Amino acid sequence: LVSRKWRVRPTVLDLGDGVLIGEGSLTLAAGPCSIESEKQMELIMQHLVDNDVRIMRGGVFKPRSSPYAFRGLGMEGLKDFHRMARARGIKIVTEVMQVSQVEEMHDYVDVFQVGARNTQNFNLLDALGGVDKPVMIKRGISGTIEELLSSAEYVFSGGNEKLILCERGIRTFETASRNTLDLNAVPILKEKTHLPVIVDPSHGIGIREYVSTMALAGVMAGADGIIYEAHEKPEEAASDGAQTLNFAESARLIRNLRKVYALR
Ligand code: PEP
Ligand code: MN
Repeated sequence: LVSRKWRVRPTVLDLGDGVLIGEGSLTLAAGPCSIESEKQMELIMQHLVDNDVRIMRGGVFKPRSSPYAFRGLGMEGLKDFHRMARARGIKIVTEVMQVSQVEEMHDYVDVFQVGARNTQNFNLLDALGGVDKPVMIKRGISGTIEELLSSAEYVFSGGNEKLILCERGIRTFETASRNTLDLNAVPILKEKTHLPVIVDPSHGIGIREYVSTMALAGVMAGADGIIYEAHEKPEEAASDGAQTLNFAESARLIRNLRKVYALR
């Protein structure tokens, strides 16, 4: 069902208020790895509004490798996130980690993110197949392109056709970067499926200095959008600071992404 053989016309998702995801527009989503405070959200939302970015990312349920790391503000944080975003015309993409969260988060998100550690959580995918909200599925840490498409097939066949695929880097033998952003996946996915394809260069390379370069390369490779981490003070971020852009870097990237997209 997610194949181009089944549907030739590219899928375009409408988040409302003129925010579209898919062929014909460049989708930009930025924000912190983790939602940390109201003050932080205020600063980041202002940065997005100033740069005409309509979608904010930010986790309130965080899958952390260490149980001692910051694990997010939970539902209280999400409710604040939602209230502040609505007041500013911003849409929200945030990670859902388990089936029990789908219902409680539902009214407060615009796009459910399925994280790389949950790409093959088939119960979660089944549950998301039953909701009427877009779902962005990240490629598994060691997942193949075919496995990503199969995960999308779970949600689609469950009745939810509002899907976005995200290439976020995979684990390889290479240790010079956090992950290996597989830009090959972009043209391959665009050819195989009618779904929008987004690139996450922050997790893809994991090194702030190179995030912008890989974001631009992602757009040139044919991505429908970019999702990246930005924070008012990356050095002080609760998670993933080393791959997070500050506002000056983020503003420059946004300008360059729009230029590169226009050249395609
Ligand atoms: C994130 O977006 O902050 C995140 C945890 O992503 P991933 O699942 O790709 O590691
Ligand atoms: Mn992160």
